[in-house]
Amino acid sequence: ALAASLAATSACSSTRDAEESTSGSSGSGGGLVGIAMPTRSLERWNNDGAHLDDLLKKAGYTTSLQFADNKVDQQITQIENMINQNAKVLVVASIDGTALSPVLEKAANAKIKVIAYDRLINGTPNVDYYATFDNYLVGKLQGEFIEEKLGLKDGKGPFNLEPFAGSSDDNNAKFFFNGAWDVLKPYVESGKLVIPSGKKIAGEEDWKTVSITGWKSETAQAEMDNRLNSFYTGGKKVNVVLSPNDSLALGIAQSLDSKGYKPGADYPILTGQDADLANVKNIQADKQSMTVWKDTRTLGDQVAKMIDAIVKGTTVEVNDEKTYNNGNKVVPSYLLPPVVVVKDDIKAKLVDSGFYTADKLGL
Ligand code: BGC
Repeated sequence: ALAASLAATSACSSTRDAEESTSGSSGSGGGLVGIAMPTRSLERWNNDGAHLDDLLKKAGYTTSLQFADNKVDQQITQIENMINQNAKVLVVASIDGTALSPVLEKAANAKIKVIAYDRLINGTPNVDYYATFDNYLVGKLQGEFIEEKLGLKDGKGPFNLEPFAGSSDDNNAKFFFNGAWDVLKPYVESGKLVIPSGKKIAGEEDWKTVSITGWKSETAQAEMDNRLNSFYTGGKKVNVVLSPNDSLALGIAQSLDSKGYKPGADYPILTGQDADLANVKNIQADKQSMTVWKDTRTLGDQVAKMIDAIVKGTTVEVNDEKTYNNGNKVVPSYLLPPVVVVKDDIKAKLVDSGFYTADKLGL
């Protein structure tokens, strides 16, 4: 319907990585849409970018798809170029959600609409819409998984827990952590969950003490190594690790492997998010317990609809107008539902939906 609603069939182009191209502005169809993704280093952003790019091109838009290598300055330059190329709409998955105010002011002056993609952009009036998955629910699902697996509701425990949080410059990280912590905190307080590393998370901002900057696997691995070396001596074992996403979980699993934890034996419960291929393989190998899957294709679909409505001047569909206050205003949002995936339903959820082909997972 999206494609059919647009008459144009102009040549489309997109640019890759940091290479800038002016060919993106030559389209005469739906106009230029700039897509600013944070990095190629994580599987999901490649998929996100490619899917949205493809949808928009099929609908007659011209696109400029850019990845910024997780460098804030690079992302700002890319957005500036999109503005100079007269983009009609900018879709931005920010690296630092607090660093884009000046460049988005330029966008607003040029009457360009801005959609925050997956991550909210903070401290500016110049973000028009936000499309994401329900970030608090992602964390809540992780917390509830742990609660259920350990039998905490039945009074089981105590268990040794190590908590991790995402990059503190990413607005999502706090939502993920709060969602999980609202479930787990009572058990920490009652002593059923013990944190041997001594990380105290009592106050609002304390999650930052377990945050992993840039969502890096290596940093999570090094942090887990440190905690295991320092606090798990004399045969003490970690029973559960709260990891907000798959890139951290990958590093944490590597650390556990190197310390001799054995899948199916003493390997701890380990959470994740994104259903990245390497992590789904780890779930198959009992080195990760679950992942919260966000079908990023549906996010792309939703954003493409938003863009189309913006360009045509029709009503942009949102379903949440209270949760995401960016410090300047509440940004009208569309929240999609995240889904828990465990070993037993990898096929039913990830393969049957076409997210992965069976052969990729050896199924
Ligand atoms: C996204 C997650 C992702 C993380 C690291 C978050 O903003 O919502 O899906 O794992 O960034 O890239």
